[in-house]
Amino acid sequence: MDERVGAALTGSPDRSSRISIVIAGGGLRATSVLRLLSDIDNLDVAAVYDTSRSAPAMRLAEDLGVFATTEIAELSQLVSLDLVLDLSEDPAIGTALMEQRLGDVVVISAAGAELVWDLLIAKKRSEEQEKIFVELQVAYDKIRSHERRLQSSKEALEKANEELEGRLAEIFFTHEFFKALTTFSSVEDVTSLIVDGANGILGAEISAVYLFEQQDWTLRLRASQGRTEEMFRATIPVSETIVGAAFRDGFVQQSDVPPGSELVEWTIRPEEVRSQAALPLRSGESVIGVLLIASATFRELTSAERDRLQVIANQASLALQNALLHEELERLSVTDRLTDLYNHGYLHQRLDEELERAARFGHKLSLIMLDIDDFKQFNDRYGHPRGDTVLRAVSSIIRQNLREIDVAARYGGEEFVVVLPETDLAGAVSVAERIRASMAEYPHLAETGEEPITQTLSLGVASYPQHASTTARLIEAADSAMYDSKRRGKNQVCVAR
Ligand code: GH3
Ligand code: MG
Ligand code: MG
Repeated sequence: MDERVGAALTGSPDRSSRISIVIAGGGLRATSVLRLLSDIDNLDVAAVYDTSRSAPAMRLAEDLGVFATTEIAELSQLVSLDLVLDLSEDPAIGTALMEQRLGDVVVISAAGAELVWDLLIAKKRSEEQEKIFVELQVAYDKIRSHERRLQSSKEALEKANEELEGRLAEIFFTHEFFKALTTFSSVEDVTSLIVDGANGILGAEISAVYLFEQQDWTLRLRASQGRTEEMFRATIPVSETIVGAAFRDGFVQQSDVPPGSELVEWTIRPEEVRSQAALPLRSGESVIGVLLIASATFRELTSAERDRLQVIANQASLALQNALLHEELERLSVTDRLTDLYNHGYLHQRLDEELERAARFGHKLSLIMLDIDDFKQFNDRYGHPRGDTVLRAVSSIIRQNLREIDVAARYGGEEFVVVLPETDLAGAVSVAERIRASMAEYPHLAETGEEPITQTLSLGVASYPQHASTTARLIEAADSAMYDSKRRGKNQVCVAR
């Protein structure tokens, strides 16, 4: 086959050599070939020839503006014709074409024409497939780019959401810390708030707060979360574990704890910890404790997470400082806040002193122990705040019946002790009796509109040197006398045996 014909049929883009072709025969196959060839760029269909003008290919030729003729002689007049494709299946036409003097024009007929037909169809198919493939490619690219856009907006949304949650948690804890700062919160309240914060703001799986103990240079566990308390060592020397390291050097992080690391020995189950971080809680220049977070899985804190941890530590340390100060004051203080009487600690100190003095000067000394009767019942019926009113009433009654030198203390929840220096048993019994009677007649327990309410006391009296010669024995003697009063029906005074 002519090279140019091959090129035209396979679509090779050799535009310098367009080829000119005549289709002989006007049947259905010729119609298809005409349609296919008219799509090929470097090929011209110069004419369609058939004996009948109404043949389908002849009509299509007219529609496409291709020269259609029934006169075979006209074909020889076509300029630079290259090829005649005989698709007529009519031997007469074949012969006629042979007889025409068409110069060096190639005539392809019979099996040759069949081959051209097959080639054209194959080319058409592959073109269609290619087109479908390109369309698919375009569609796929579009889908991918949509998907990328979706993914990135999803990521942006998730990030924004995460940030928002983080901010909300921070605001929440800032508020809580502020509350803790302005109300009297215990060290326990503040440290639990810190571990809650580590959990709420950072999603810490395990967290703990250790506070510095100056007298023995250790860090003591004050709050924990995420594991049972037995998992944590209660006391850690400042030279040991990540807790001590943070205390000494500041922020420490291990995202992947090496097996056998000493730094993880704040827990009795080090094998269950894979990552950990700790940072100091400061008060001004000094470090007052350490916040520890840990997890059973690999975790590396991002710088944003480190910042958040720092925020918790900063806010916490103010509230913590406040609570520690308060705890210290409480320890140093000698009075009970509710009743304004002396507290347990101070009572022991004073009793020791008074007994020593009595021993030295050969004086007597008496002790009254008293307990409110059926107080639980009162609380259950009227509520704890009204119970506190009763405690204050008892305190004021005791005070009204004492001399300057006497010492009254709230000994426990609803138990009171009165120390009466230079007072013998008879004198003490009469004081105890006055207190009992005043309480039994006390008119102010009921609120307006209520039936009168009576609360009574059971009292026990013991004297030095008659009943005991040490403070512990004296308290014991008064206490068992008080229980005698309870046993005998309450609202009475009993003397030690
Ligand atoms: P008894 O006559 O045998 O002494 O009975 P009781 O109910 O007084 O004794 P119990 O020891 O069972 O209960 C003591 C109650 O005192 C229980 C506790 O709720 C109450 N209580 C202790 N401290 C306080 C306090 O500070 N305020 C109030 N409102 N109640 C207190
Ligand atoms: Mg009691
Ligand atoms: Mg009682």
